[in-house]
Amino acid sequence: FQSKPNSGRHFLHIPGPSNVPDRILRAMDHPTMDHRGPDFGKLGAQVLEKAKAIFKTQSHVVIYPASGTGAWEAALVNTLSPGDRVVMCETGWFAHLWNEMAERLGIVADFVKTDWRRGADVDAIGQKLRDDKSHAIKAVCVVHNETSTGATSRIAEVRAAMDAAGHPALLLVDTISGLGSMDYRHDEWGVDVTVSGSQKGLMLPPGLSFNAISAKAIEASKSAKLTRSFWDWKPMLAANATGYFPYTPATNMLYALDTACDMLLEEGLDNVFARHDRMAEATRRAVRHWGLEVQCEDPRHFSSVLTAVRLPEGHSANALRATILEKFNMSLGNGLGQLNDRVFRIGHLGDITPLQLVGALGGVEMGLRAAGIPHQAGGVQVAMDYLGGNA
Ligand code: PLP
Repeated sequence: FQSKPNSGRHFLHIPGPSNVPDRILRAMDHPTMDHRGPDFGKLGAQVLEKAKAIFKTQSHVVIYPASGTGAWEAALVNTLSPGDRVVMCETGWFAHLWNEMAERLGIVADFVKTDWRRGADVDAIGQKLRDDKSHAIKAVCVVHNETSTGATSRIAEVRAAMDAAGHPALLLVDTISGLGSMDYRHDEWGVDVTVSGSQKGLMLPPGLSFNAISAKAIEASKSAKLTRSFWDWKPMLAANATGYFPYTPATNMLYALDTACDMLLEEGLDNVFARHDRMAEATRRAVRHWGLEVQCEDPRHFSSVLTAVRLPEGHSANALRATILEKFNMSLGNGLGQLNDRVFRIGHLGDITPLQLVGALGGVEMGLRAAGIPHQAGGVQVAMDYLGGNA
């Protein structure tokens, strides 16, 4: 289905769902299998093991047939009890949604504000923990890559602040849009629950989500009192021990996940991350040349997954995106929440090459002109100079 009569492939440059490589599409193209038969057990065990390498954990990864929102809920209901206090950080729209979910579940969240132009405020988190002498705070929840703003939070520093405060709270991290694109280390960074999803750096269609779970989180789940059923880790981990699931798994998506892990590991995670860094740097150079502003103000927090671009006052980002879709058959991400119509988001994640990025930036530059947005032409040239090694 294509809404426009344009020939050629649609350019999907939203910050996820990302483009699915042909090799993964072929991997999914199998007859449906018996999810209780021996072949499935082998696939399940294999893919659960491979996923650990992507999260950089020796502990457990569970896979839900759900979008990322489900895995958010799983992280909360398995570790917390009604009335528990947590610290959350308002990095943007997704942090806001996770906070709303926590409140709805009966968790009392202390929401550390930012201006949506940077990652989590590590000093503020450390201060809250130092002030909490009675250890009433049960968890710190941080969004690693805030997809609404293109700002990343430095999880190792959050961990260090928690350790420096000598505080036993759990660390819950959403890397739904960071995993498989930017460096992420579940074990080394002492994360207790990592939440992720299939449709971003893993290059899969939407439909799977994940919890990577530390031993401390499993221990916490034994006394956590929030109501849980579908999301309960206990039956999941019991079934996973032999490669099976407590309910019908998304079998064909697991073939795809198996292949996605192979692709990422064959390229080498460090190479994957460096490729994303290059795409992001090229994009920011183009944006600066156009004379537009990147939403993330702190270079230490720049995301390598997406770049959110602010439009000058009085210009509509939604109108620009509509022009680009209409004229050039490319989808860009919209501004979310308070950024609606103020920014557009360029996704440069997953199965992406320099040539694709140059095409996408070309679409943006032509769109800026077509929509009458004041800018300096030549941003694509600047990106090409950088990507071609001439910058
Ligand atoms: N968290 C982040 C950082 C996201 O980018 C998204 C989706 O884009 C979500 C949570 C919600 O995930 P889903 O839409 O898969 O439920």
